[in-house]
Amino acid sequence: MSNLIIVESPAKSQTISKYLGKEYVVASSKGHIRDLKKQGFGRFGVDIENNFKPMYRVLRDKAAVIRELKEAVKKADKVYLATDPDREGEAISWHLYEVLELANRNYERIVFNEITKPALLKALENGRDIDIDLVHSQESRRILDRIIGFSLSSLLQKKIGSKSAGRVQSVALKLIVDREKEIRAFVPEEYWEIYIDFVKNAEKLRAKLTQRGDEKIELKTKADTDEVLSTLTAAYRVREISRKERKKAAKPPFITSTLQQEASTRFHYNAKRTMMIAQKLYEGIELENERIGLITYMRTDSIRLSDQFIMEAKDWIISNLGKEYFAGYYKTNKGKNVQDAHEAIRPTSLRYTPEAVKKFLSADEYKIYSLIYYRAVCALMSAALVEDEKVLIENNGYIFEITGEKVLFAGYLRLFAPYETSSGKALPPFENGEVLENVTPVPEQKFTSPPQRYTESKLIKKMEELGIGRPSTYAITVDTLKQRYYVRMENRSFVPTDQGILTAEKLEQFFSDIINVKYTAEMETVLDEIAIGKKTWYEELRLFYDKFMPLVEFASANMEKIYPVYLDEYCPSCGSQLVIRIGRYGQFVACSAFPKCHYVKKEEKTTNIKCPNCGIGYLVEKVSRKGRWRGKKFYACNRYPECKTTFSTLPGTEEEK
Ligand SMILES: [Zn+2]
Ligand SMILES: [Zn+2]
Repeated sequence: MSNLIIVESPAKSQTISKYLGKEYVVASSKGHIRDLKKQGFGRFGVDIENNFKPMYRVLRDKAAVIRELKEAVKKADKVYLATDPDREGEAISWHLYEVLELANRNYERIVFNEITKPALLKALENGRDIDIDLVHSQESRRILDRIIGFSLSSLLQKKIGSKSAGRVQSVALKLIVDREKEIRAFVPEEYWEIYIDFVKNAEKLRAKLTQRGDEKIELKTKADTDEVLSTLTAAYRVREISRKERKKAAKPPFITSTLQQEASTRFHYNAKRTMMIAQKLYEGIELENERIGLITYMRTDSIRLSDQFIMEAKDWIISNLGKEYFAGYYKTNKGKNVQDAHEAIRPTSLRYTPEAVKKFLSADEYKIYSLIYYRAVCALMSAALVEDEKVLIENNGYIFEITGEKVLFAGYLRLFAPYETSSGKALPPFENGEVLENVTPVPEQKFTSPPQRYTESKLIKKMEELGIGRPSTYAITVDTLKQRYYVRMENRSFVPTDQGILTAEKLEQFFSDIINVKYTAEMETVLDEIAIGKKTWYEELRLFYDKFMPLVEFASANMEKIYPVYLDEYCPSCGSQLVIRIGRYGQFVACSAFPKCHYVKKEEKTTNIKCPNCGIGYLVEKVSRKGRWRGKKFYACNRYPECKTTFSTLPGTEEEK
């Protein structure tokens, strides 16, 4: 009896092949094998009149792989399709089933959440047919993205020179642009704080003025502040000490989005990098005498832990830390859009402690694995018991407040403290009525601050809250925005480019019925419902299509064409007018006669000097092409034509033009 197991990744096949005897051959499809053709109406690759029947083509670089797989299938008595346990994995299995013509062969689809021997053996005993609802859900996502992507990209390219638009991508861009507009519209307001600094038990402490008598105090101006300062005396007396106990529970184990957020906050990894590391840990790590997948599948939005893991963790916690540290359950706060019945991201076995496997991991892998390991264990540990302390200090009717936090029982913090942003410190002992010595009042002028830009971590969190992303899409969405020159990163935060803002505005103007949070979230829900057979995929596509295509037609007829921007400058090779176009790396100047003439103006030398007028662009070196300055070097803002700043010499070096 000879069996063939097909997976989608070589690393995964390597791990699996170690678990099974000679009667099993493991092969890999090396990723996707088919995609939609670029044919038919709009090059959508679907037969719209025929219930959106997809037209597939085998990916060019997969011909050899498929030939080999076909040979292997011929020799096998039974074929197991063992791609990843989500919709995308199900779709890959279905494509394999179609291309390898498995309909009349002995085949089974098997799924497992972790690449370990017990999980694999169990899966082999629980084979099933391909779940066509999952496949349809994935196909629908692909078709939707194709129709929206191709329609909007070609429209925006023609009208405003933007490279792409997409269902989820454009909604994420809108979030970033809306935030930027809030920031630009924000007017900071002045306010003041008064602190008192003093030393107690050799510890420097600072309390903050919060009240006058029983009323909250707000200081708007320096005059307000000086008035308070002038009435303060030398006598600062402790008026009230209060303590309150509070439970602090561990967070649930990781799902894709929370792992990406934590890795971004803690290690400054972008989502793409985190997913690559996690995938490696999942697909298999070479240890001393074995090769094993160290974590469960990394694309998931379930926080469920298997009973088997809970039992193992219980033993681990009780024997390593004591009974009082095991809680045995954790709060599940399941959102509405939870995909399938998966598991959280957790270690496959607690035997492989991060310390024990450290020497087999890269530094990145070790960091991510430790985080996953401890977060999963801690999810089952007791809450910490914390005492909040508040001390009120009075001076002439003014109340200053200082707070501290004391850990009474560490609970999960005993393990997780190094991974948690440190909370408040405990205060030294105070006594009621005590008079404080050597107290210095410190006034500080402050300004209210605008809302913060999205970091990658915050954007993913927001997308998750709004229900507009899925485990498989967060990383790719964020990455695409950067690739398309719609955003740039500043202090690890997203700043939209002018092109990004323009794109978001045009989409808002013409496609607000489709490119918005509500519609996108509803569409994700529809895809979830297709996946469980509650909705018919082509009916949903039809509803979308009939709503979307009229918008495309209207926009084609009515969106103003402002691209490319014509310059008062002519092509040295053919004499046609030059234009500003937008390419992969930003704006460039080229001949308007393209594709007849391929002239592209040489890239300008960029200085590192910020434009002193707009403060956004950078000065670039240019050569005058006309008038009295013809042939002369000069410097201009690279945001031309929005900013028309020019200098004959670099500002600060000689006299300016
Ligand atoms: Zn030309
Ligand atoms: Zn400028």
